Amino acid sequence: MSRVFNFSAGPATLPEAVLEQVRDELLDWRGTGMSVMEMSHRDKPFMSIATEAEADLRKLLGVPDNYKVLFLQGGATGQFAFVPMNLMPEGGSADYLVTGSWGKKAIKEAGKYGTANTAVRPADDKFDHIPARSEWKLDPNAAYVHYTPNETIEGVEFHQPPEVGGVPLVGDFSSNFLSRPVDVAAHGVMYAGAQKNAGPAGLTMVIVRDDLIGKARPTTPSIFDYKAVADGESMLNTPPCFAWYVSGLVFKWLLDQGGLEGMAERNARKAGLLYDYIDSEPFYDNPVAPADRSHMNVTFRLAKPDLDATFLEGAKAAGMPGLKGHRSVGGMRASIYNAMPEAGVQALVDYMKEFVRTNG
Ligand SMILES: *Cc1c(COP(=O)(O)O)cnc(C)c1O
Repeated sequence: MSRVFNFSAGPATLPEAVLEQVRDELLDWRGTGMSVMEMSHRDKPFMSIATEAEADLRKLLGVPDNYKVLFLQGGATGQFAFVPMNLMPEGGSADYLVTGSWGKKAIKEAGKYGTANTAVRPADDKFDHIPARSEWKLDPNAAYVHYTPNETIEGVEFHQPPEVGGVPLVGDFSSNFLSRPVDVAAHGVMYAGAQKNAGPAGLTMVIVRDDLIGKARPTTPSIFDYKAVADGESMLNTPPCFAWYVSGLVFKWLLDQGGLEGMAERNARKAGLLYDYIDSEPFYDNPVAPADRSHMNVTFRLAKPDLDATFLEGAKAAGMPGLKGHRSVGGMRASIYNAMPEAGVQALVDYMKEFVRTNG
């Protein structure tokens, strides 16, 4: 068996220790004689898995008691609709900080439910920086302010939650969830699909402050009404049991790694290694303003774009697949989530050096 350094943006690499445990427990979960895939979600074994996962997630993030943690389906894309359905009253409005491609999708979807105002968006959609706070146009009467803490496609990240006054802040944390400590209390809602940094595809986590629960429009489907889901302890219908279980193992792995402080240090080192090399080598270029560069998705371009395919083929042959940039922006993207070891980033830098030597 040989495992590669998988730089895919998502679904993405998982910690090897977690995969090994899943393998070991696959046919017989702790003496139950069955796989987690085969268990009733109402029986004790799965209930214990679910409860422990939530407790570990709360511990990792320091989730205050006045927040619910919901385990849902529908992805972050689902939340683009469920957030306005739950938080925006009929005829109401919300503000959107659009700093990349996912923010664009979020505001477009919200526009189906009311007025989705662009509080800020770089001219010509040049998503290579976060515009200065003085340029934002925030409405104090907005139902909420939505932002994308990490824009996965462009590699632009907020390193602190934005300051938005008293309006509830909603963050799409899909691609930097659990990559560093976050002030949960600065947010009204945080949501994330698991498949980038927290587990397998199929599970969506929503962390929502109690006072924002129970305001959904009457037409909101019950399985996406935060109140109905919270009252049903995320088991209003059959939850994505296996993804919930694997994510729970990832939470335990993160606690073993020194929690989110430990991950933040490691992630900063990994990103620093890559950006320092890119900045030192004229053959490569990262267009993002240094203060806003993502620690999770490092985008870069080659000085000779006609060599993109050669670069990708060589990387794949060297055991480093998944480096192709998103089709909308081209170039390269190295997704270096929690589970990417430092050795993987070092191997990529070594490959990039060798590529310049032979092709530059
Ligand atoms: C991947 C991603 C999404 C889409 O997630 P799905 O779970 O596929 O709906 C949305 N927002 C961000 C920031 C992402 O990285």
